[in-house]
Amino acid sequence: QESLLKVQNLHTGFEIEGKTYYAVKDVSFDVKPKEVVCVVGESGCGKSVMSLSIMDLLPKHNGKIAQGEILFKGKDLVPLSDNEMNQIRGKDISMIFQEPMTALNPVLSIGFQLDEVLINHTTSKNEEIRRKSISLLQQVGISRADQVVNEYPHQLSGGMRQRVMIAMAIACQPQLLIADEPTTALDVTVQAQILELITKIQEEVGMAMLLITHDLGVVAEMADRVVVMYAGQVVEYTDADRLFYAPKHPYTKALLDSIPRMDETREVLNTIKGIVPSLKNMPAKGCRFVDRCPSAMPECAEIDPQLGEVEKGHAVRCILYDASHPEKEAEVK
Ligand code: SF4
Ligand code: MG
Repeated sequence: QESLLKVQNLHTGFEIEGKTYYAVKDVSFDVKPKEVVCVVGESGCGKSVMSLSIMDLLPKHNGKIAQGEILFKGKDLVPLSDNEMNQIRGKDISMIFQEPMTALNPVLSIGFQLDEVLINHTTSKNEEIRRKSISLLQQVGISRADQVVNEYPHQLSGGMRQRVMIAMAIACQPQLLIADEPTTALDVTVQAQILELITKIQEEVGMAMLLITHDLGVVAEMADRVVVMYAGQVVEYTDADRLFYAPKHPYTKALLDSIPRMDETREVLNTIKGIVPSLKNMPAKGCRFVDRCPSAMPECAEIDPQLGEVEKGHAVRCILYDASHPEKEAEVK
């Protein structure tokens, strides 16, 4: 099947004190129509920068795509002008963020903000707009929608604001929704409701979704395919079943081990020792996971591992699986 979104070789750099640091370095993956692809990794792994790159929402003063392609329905978005991207954003590709308060305008009513999306991106007639806004709010499970249209963001709870954001994101029936940690800022019970809503809407609208999360429980529930990122790179990329039942990359295995199990009473998570290296401290060569990897070998600090297929539809970035080191694969077993 043709890809809806195909990210190839993406490099996103930030200028800091005259030097360029890459928060995203050689990221490739694709999303097919109606598919849910989860991007997972610890904070600082480049997930958000990757999604902001796709939406052309990088901080203009120092962030920039240095290399790579972002193909949406076969057309590269990277060279498009701000105007052209404005046409695509909110219409063909929508995004919801972790903290809806920052994405909603505090001085405009909910109805005004929803109306504006419909006015800018659809051919709806003036007299239909408000009715459509109300029905969108109903679609995202807001029962007193005819009142909420006249309210302001601060009058709503976090969960309600996220519902409003979802309504705005789907107003134009986008083909792709990018959701960056959409439930992280919410209470646990509300998180489950919002995830359920997103799943329902995704199926109703028939859109594909790129879901950015650090929560493997969410991945297990939602993903068709999974992109695991570490320190700005894709380290493993496969379908959800293989990721959970046959993970290959040492980082993926460590992430899966860090999930607290229901049958265990310990309270401390079995987290991975160490932290993701910061932008300024990325190793200049070799594997970026080397300091934390339980399987590290001396050559890991020297050779840049490449993302390569270990079997059809399953790619891994680790020299243990590099075909040019066939003896290494035997050692992991
Ligand atoms: Fe670990 Fe080496 Fe593989 Fe990196 S390349 S993940 S350090 S075994
Ligand atoms: Mg983030």
